[in-house]
Amino acid sequence: MKTPSVILKSQFIHKSEKCCHESGTNNEAEEEPPGERSISANLEEEPPGKTATNRYRFFSHITDDLWNDWKWHFRNRITSVEQLAQFIPLSAEEQAQLRLVTMRYPLSITPYYLSLINTYDPNDPIRKQAIPSILEMTMGSMGVEDPLDEKRDSVVPGLVHRYADRVLIVLTDICPMLCRHCTRKREWRNGGWVRSPGEVEAMLSYIRQHRAIRDVIISGGDPLTLSTKRLEDIISRIREIRHVEIIRIGTRFPVVLPQRIDYELCAMLAKYGPIWLNTHFNHAREITPEAAEACDRLLRSGVPVNNQSVLLRGINDSVEAQTELCRRLLKIKVRPYYLFQCDEVQGTEHLRTPVEVGMKIIEGMRGHTSGLAVPTFVIDLPQGGGKVPLQPNYVLAQTKDELVLRNYQGRIFHYRNPLRQVHEESLAEAVSPVGDAAGTIAGSGVKLELEGARNADRVIVRS
Ligand code: SF4
Repeated sequence: MKTPSVILKSQFIHKSEKCCHESGTNNEAEEEPPGERSISANLEEEPPGKTATNRYRFFSHITDDLWNDWKWHFRNRITSVEQLAQFIPLSAEEQAQLRLVTMRYPLSITPYYLSLINTYDPNDPIRKQAIPSILEMTMGSMGVEDPLDEKRDSVVPGLVHRYADRVLIVLTDICPMLCRHCTRKREWRNGGWVRSPGEVEAMLSYIRQHRAIRDVIISGGDPLTLSTKRLEDIISRIREIRHVEIIRIGTRFPVVLPQRIDYELCAMLAKYGPIWLNTHFNHAREITPEAAEACDRLLRSGVPVNNQSVLLRGINDSVEAQTELCRRLLKIKVRPYYLFQCDEVQGTEHLRTPVEVGMKIIEGMRGHTSGLAVPTFVIDLPQGGGKVPLQPNYVLAQTKDELVLRNYQGRIFHYRNPLRQVHEESLAEAVSPVGDAAGTIAGSGVKLELEGARNADRVIVRS
């Protein structure tokens, strides 16, 4: 990874002055934005969260133009303990510990994400995701480097083909922020790479040759670290492959550097749909007006946004934290999709929770808030076993004819189980009051159709 040189506050000023003159982002920002007015109107009515609270404390000298320029944030990431100590109170001992950790697991925080941290709270959920902990080393013997065995399923460099109809393309190992719970922490020491044109062509060639592939997931690192032009080159070539139905992008930019989701990027993505974007909010405090605007720009460009959060000890491991996160996601029209059990990755053990915690969270949400707000809790199995959904058991007993179920309040209900086989005479009899199996309900205009022999036990009602 290209590590920016040490930045002192004075250097921020220097860089900001320089970049202000050379940046072309003003013009880009003036391009016709998709739905800008509505975004502003929505946010004025009901801001979904506090904005970057420390912006003016730490970066008051940075102009709005620079603050809204993702490349400025990227260039000015905090990547050393010395830089970090300028913003976060750290004792000499803490600094020594962090230096030790960062020798193995580097540090990278965008100014935007840093500005969300409550610097006075050592247990701040934003801080814990971004700032290293000595526990990454002291508990570092637990877990494995590559728990999902992604290397084994790599069919060509950078392309993982585990499920028949979908592939994962890893375009780079560079991320704007290095999240302390990252599954691909093993890649951080490799110095930052982006796939070469030859490697990209080899991946595309593999996809062209395998007609069963209908879903291509572009991931990293974070693929949006590539320039929009380079991304377009790759995405447009994937879109040319006729058997590829959907493209998915996995990115944490909307959370850690939402300025990256600019109009140029959205306009490009809009050309190659259907494109779905999966992002990674872990805490309600990450849903700032900036993040909400980024998601809104994507949605208005025809890119649905799903959220995949990771269950993390002391960060979001309670019913309250998850409920608040998911409700706020719905308010910005992002679907809570998965809640992942934290993978057993070396250097993350201190952030992992017992599986029961996730089950209890789902139990505490299901029925108590909108079903749309309840993500699917999953474990990504080791050795490439794939994702397994877990949920509390609501079936207390079952016979051939009946289930005994408990609801979200713990009340017990008996539910008659319909017979598996329904004889055709019975079915005809059942339908006869309103006519033939393919008849019409008298006077209603509603047409009944049998779905066919495969589903002899059900009918479809079409009006
Ligand atoms: S953005 Fe994703 S890939 Fe990058 S460090 Fe964070 S969790 Fe890992």
